[in-house]
Amino acid sequence: MRAGGSNPVREAARILTARGNVVVLTGAGISVESGIPSFRGSQGMWEKYDPMEYATLHAFMKSPQKVWEMLSEMVSVCGGAMPNAAHRGLAALEEMGVVRAVITQNVDGLHQAAGSRRVIEYHGNLDELICVYCWKRYPTRDRWTPGSVPLCDCGEILKPNVVLFGEPIPWLAQEEAEEEARTCGVLVVIGTSAQVSPACDIPRIAKESGAAVVEINPEETSLSGNVTDIHLRGSASELLRRIQVTLSTDDESTSTSPPGIK
Ligand code: NAD
Ligand code: ZN
Repeated sequence: MRAGGSNPVREAARILTARGNVVVLTGAGISVESGIPSFRGSQGMWEKYDPMEYATLHAFMKSPQKVWEMLSEMVSVCGGAMPNAAHRGLAALEEMGVVRAVITQNVDGLHQAAGSRRVIEYHGNLDELICVYCWKRYPTRDRWTPGSVPLCDCGEILKPNVVLFGEPIPWLAQEEAEEEARTCGVLVVIGTSAQVSPACDIPRIAKESGAAVVEINPEETSLSGNVTDIHLRGSASELLRRIQVTLSTDDESTSTSPPGIK
């Protein structure tokens, strides 16, 4: 943590109100409390599935049935998941006029389910399937049942409309995310290890454009201590709850910026 002081949550709350234009970047960590495993870490999906074998476009084109073993698990788990207090907290902060937009790397749709309105899905969404041969799209629920491998009308195997390693970011999402990063006053980075490129460039773009960066993560990441101004260590739900409480009760939070943050 670079900004001084003994109460980093209060400092973070002050920065949010003093600077405004708050944009949030989320990763798999925010959905862990909804029962969706992250990719990295001891309970992570990568313990079970090697990403190079299961999460690349090349792997999908070579053996889509095999890649669907992993995809089926993700579609089932995400399909049954409910937003948690952290998703709801961000929706409430948007409603309060504090948060301007959420850029998410997640593909589970839980921000929208919680009520967030301005959500930029950087890596797509599991709700939709796409044919990589004829580009036809289908709602996932229309073509996929647990254990099945969904087929296009043209006979080819469908792919979830999410970004696998080796695929480009949907251009509109990338444009919008970079514009949000360039113009925000504060970027709050929640639950991402910041190891997936180019999503990991977003905090750097925000920082280089003059934004303060607040990180919420129980662990250190490659952002902590260099790009991050304030690292709030802990779970997303608990820290967002404390920020919300501080914003609603602490009149001082509307006054000046803390030391170290202009
Ligand atoms: P990651 O798995 O690399 O890292 C998760 C991060 O979340 C870690 O830094 C961890 O310390 C932190 N974390 C764990 N529990 C947390 C909590 N309760 N509160 C706050 N932080 C917590 O995730 P990533 O950086 O998002 O990269 C994974 C990629 O895989 C993403 O691009 C995403 O598209 C995809 N993915 C999505 C989902 C989903 O949609 N829910 C799930 C897994 C992976
Ligand atoms: Zn097709």
